[in-house]
Amino acid sequence: MNPVVFCDFDGTITRDETFVGILRKFTPEKSRELIPRMYDLTLTLKEGVRELLESVESRHYPEMLEIMRNAPLREGFLTFLDYLNARGFPLIVVTGGLEDFVRETLGPFFKEVHSVYGLKVRTDGRFLQVRSDWESGTELVSKPRILEAAGRTMRADPPVLIGDSVTDLEAALACPVVFARDRLAGYLSERGKTFCPFDDFTEIQRSFGEMFPVDA
Ligand SMILES: [Mg+2]
Repeated sequence: MNPVVFCDFDGTITRDETFVGILRKFTPEKSRELIPRMYDLTLTLKEGVRELLESVESRHYPEMLEIMRNAPLREGFLTFLDYLNARGFPLIVVTGGLEDFVRETLGPFFKEVHSVYGLKVRTDGRFLQVRSDWESGTELVSKPRILEAAGRTMRADPPVLIGDSVTDLEAALACPVVFARDRLAGYLSERGKTFCPFDDFTEIQRSFGEMFPVDA
């Protein structure tokens, strides 16, 4: 077996829903209007996330990075990352948010993740400008497209998804092994999709030991 871990960032690797928190802080009015509609699935992530980010003034960007530098990680993440690296199982961060945020938060541990897929921003205009290499009809960062492409290149067997919210939903429905918490667990239960619930990475690491025994 050759498991490849596709792991969400905000609210999964970070303990709190950092990305939504940042949007609420730097574009409060639009956040109040648009975020509930993305959660109840009446507004696409593609429209909502772009409109939110592009209403943030670029001068706030250093402060956003500073917040991310101080964002607490979910319990057990760094130990789990070590464990995966020791076993030769890659961890790919797939975020519906900004790649820069992942780099800031992980700091010296950034080099231990295999790769990061997410949004890129430009800050040379008055407002942030968002770019994605992985758009789909409904998503700005299409996690199913990334899982498909990277999973194939890396011969993932099986691909494993870890996530917590609406940006993980489509990918989770298509993925054979899913660890879910919070809103994602709710969405998957409603749809009858099997998943392993988790609160922290200690539990995921324990499940990995059982699913992928060392001698198998
Ligand atoms: Mg998340």
